[in-house]
Amino acid sequence: MNAPAQRLKKVVPVPYTRYLPDVVRRNLGHWVDRKQHGAGIMEHISDTGDHLFTVKVGGTPNVRFSTRTLRKFVDIANEHGLHSLRFTRSGSIEIFAGDLASAKRVQQAVEEIGFHVGGWGHTLWSIGSCTAYLTCTTAVIDAPSLTNALYNRLVPYFTGEVELPAKLRVNVGGCPTGCGGLVADIVLTGHYGAVPGYDPEKIRLCLPARADVLDKVVPEVQMVCPVNAIRSFAKPDGSVGIEIIEKKCIGCGRCKDVCDHITWDPAKSGVSVLIGGKSSNTGVGPTMARVLVPWIPARPPDYREAVAVVQKIIDVWRANARPGERVADFIERVGMPAVFDLLGVPASRWNRPTAPDTGFGVRQFVAR
Ligand code: SF4
Ligand code: SF4
Repeated sequence: MNAPAQRLKKVVPVPYTRYLPDVVRRNLGHWVDRKQHGAGIMEHISDTGDHLFTVKVGGTPNVRFSTRTLRKFVDIANEHGLHSLRFTRSGSIEIFAGDLASAKRVQQAVEEIGFHVGGWGHTLWSIGSCTAYLTCTTAVIDAPSLTNALYNRLVPYFTGEVELPAKLRVNVGGCPTGCGGLVADIVLTGHYGAVPGYDPEKIRLCLPARADVLDKVVPEVQMVCPVNAIRSFAKPDGSVGIEIIEKKCIGCGRCKDVCDHITWDPAKSGVSVLIGGKSSNTGVGPTMARVLVPWIPARPPDYREAVAVVQKIIDVWRANARPGERVADFIERVGMPAVFDLLGVPASRWNRPTAPDTGFGVRQFVAR
């Protein structure tokens, strides 16, 4: 097993096509067309004459399923479909069926167990969510429960009952690290809305014992601050003190991640709302989402304020965008200051409506 070719075989021991449904395996490289039947059924057409139908189902926040629910999906795929399903990268479930009638039976069975079918075309494609408190220690808010509140409000956009100007993606992250994904039309990230506090006596335990090493050692709690808002200094007794410079702090919470003696007012836990991100190369090309609302409270279980901001963005986009115009393309055409006006959001130094540089991604390789 030492020759490179043999080692490769050892690393990938199973031909992955073994797990594909027969119709997919037979037609690899032959799919030439597709046709939508409503917002959640897609017909794939092969040049061999074969057809395949996929039913797209909105998943649970952060793609957490009980085994009992998963078994129900397996039963539906076995009874009406081709004994096969897949999970998409953004957390939807796709169930394969052999013909349109079977696909519609899959849809009906899925709806009977309380899930929705949709998410293709000019609809809400998905709401991506990070794990937050379920397995992560740095969360400011419980991202999956905010995602759940958003799904409850936005279902008609997912099913296609209410049409959108173009595809819409929403991502939710529990903190500014943004594991929910920062490249989406609308992004919500957990954010502390205040400068942290700290207990000067207890925080001493996380700092160097003597100030005379400060020219060689930067305390970790100071090092992690992305905007240099934490300063360490020598106290008269030779020990180390720290100061948080309020004017510089952006409330990101990184210092809290590394030090249990940094304290936060839970009532100040909230979200930032960003808009205009997309990874696709259509229109203005790939763009990062930009801060629209620097902070609003995040209050479970219904997250009324955060959900209302998302609804307002969708309303303004629906009323003013041209057909096919993603949020980023809409912003590019009318300008961010006009978007701020339409949404009634005041600009500040935290959410300046400046134009982003969209000259990155694949477009850097072509003349503009
Ligand atoms: S975005 Fe923040 S809370 Fe969510 S998984 Fe990443 S680090 Fe954890
Ligand atoms: S919250 Fe963020 S910006 Fe503020 S002091 Fe802590 S690490 Fe620095």
